[in-house]
Amino acid sequence: MLTDECEMRPFLEQRGVAVIETDLGERIQQLDDEPPSHIVVPAVHKLKADVAELFARTLGTDATNNDVHYLAESQRRTTRPSFLNADAGMTGANFAVAETGAIVVCTNEGNADLSVHCPPLYIASVGIEKIVPRTEHLGIFVRMLSRSALGSPITQMTSHFRAPRPGTQMHIVLVDNGRSERLGMADFWTSLKCIRCGACMNTCPVYRRSGGLSYGATYSGPIGVIIDPTYDLRKYSALPFASTLNGSCSAVCPVKIDIHDQIYKWRRVITERNALPFAKKQAMRMAGKLLASPRLYRAAVEAAGASVEYLPRVMLYNRLNAWGRQREVPAAPAMTFRQWWLKHRADKSGEPR
Ligand code: SF4
Repeated sequence: MLTDECEMRPFLEQRGVAVIETDLGERIQQLDDEPPSHIVVPAVHKLKADVAELFARTLGTDATNNDVHYLAESQRRTTRPSFLNADAGMTGANFAVAETGAIVVCTNEGNADLSVHCPPLYIASVGIEKIVPRTEHLGIFVRMLSRSALGSPITQMTSHFRAPRPGTQMHIVLVDNGRSERLGMADFWTSLKCIRCGACMNTCPVYRRSGGLSYGATYSGPIGVIIDPTYDLRKYSALPFASTLNGSCSAVCPVKIDIHDQIYKWRRVITERNALPFAKKQAMRMAGKLLASPRLYRAAVEAAGASVEYLPRVMLYNRLNAWGRQREVPAAPAMTFRQWWLKHRADKSGEPR
């Protein structure tokens, strides 16, 4: 089966269905056995050298050739037979039009069109919030999506799938999966307006620093932080605390979701329901004490810098260090900001000039 619905993949594979992702980024992530890290650009965290190494390992390409045309063409050649021989193709939907029954899918690679048009069976999996009343209402959403996602006026392909080809089948699955329940949440229902453009992720300082995989959820970044707790409050209770509340996510959101306000409201809900894990609560308590004492804070910053430099790797990269599972701990700068300030900007008393 061909699919561009990443969450569906494990479900189908466990039932013996061979699944090939058709979006290039999703395919890269599938070959690397990793979930996507961004809703628009799933392999955004990988360099072309990483992809060259991955393709050499999984597709047998030349590991020393990281020319992007060569890599894209290699992937195309290995995937194309799957397009032509698949029993079924599946897509999500960027939008669906109630008036015409059209499933609207925006891509830059045309992969959805091949998934729909080659196999004898097409299945569209559509979140119920994606339905717009009439075709006349669609234009504004398609333009907003492309401009906010990519900065381009429109995607290369904006396809309307309205009926099966003669002799083939088309099935539409309307997915609720907690959406109706969220619609009834006075403080959080507006997250259903999300058109999945990814702009809030691109601007978020936490997402930009930590990457999408560190959220441990299908939806990462600011939109993930407010959606994920609606699926499982306890499991995702730490996410709303991974925010600086700077508000840039709300500022760039084309459908004007009050994301940072909702993040703050989730913190209150999680605290009131006592949903934070014990370890997290203790860590926050300790952090509170540390941040309330300048002397303790300075000592901790200096100790952290020294430990990154001198401690053996096994003490830094173990099960307790979630950050280190996917990346190196950054090296500490040669001097802290306070040391720099004292040296360059303060008078002899240590006070700012
Ligand atoms: S919340 Fe707004 S900015 Fe973020 S992905 Fe959704 S529509 Fe885009």
